[in-house]
Amino acid sequence: MSDCIFCRIVAGEIPAQIVWQDDDVFAFRDVAPRAPVHVLVVPRRHVPSVLGLSKRAEDVALGGRLLTAAIDVARQEGLGEPGRGFRLVVNTGPEGGQSVDHVHVHVLGGRALAWPPG
Ligand code: 5GP
Ligand code: ZN
Repeated sequence: MSDCIFCRIVAGEIPAQIVWQDDDVFAFRDVAPRAPVHVLVVPRRHVPSVLGLSKRAEDVALGGRLLTAAIDVARQEGLGEPGRGFRLVVNTGPEGGQSVDHVHVHVLGGRALAWPPG
């Protein structure tokens, strides 16, 4: 989608600090980090939110790819080491705090994270 910020980042039309990519998934640093490590993992294909993922095999696979890519990113950032850790967040819809309508997994870490969120 040409008016979607994350589609434009995936297409290279908007610069971003890329940390990981493969055929299906793309990961880059959040422009306004909420933690020392704050990476966004997105599908190359435009899907507005997790509500747009069906139970068809290709969508199930994409959901799995997003999760495993987020874990790979966390490991790459050193967050899988003993004594460390991280949080994966998928904000969904207005009440869920979603501000960009292209599904994304936040990988947050690098400090002790408060729980519960606001
Ligand atoms: P949401 O609020 O939808 O869960 O998360 C969207 C995230 O995208 C926010 O954390 C915001 O800082 C980030 N973001 C918005 N626009 C850009 C951008 O142009 N570049 C990057 N790298 N991150 C962005
Ligand atoms: Zn998009």
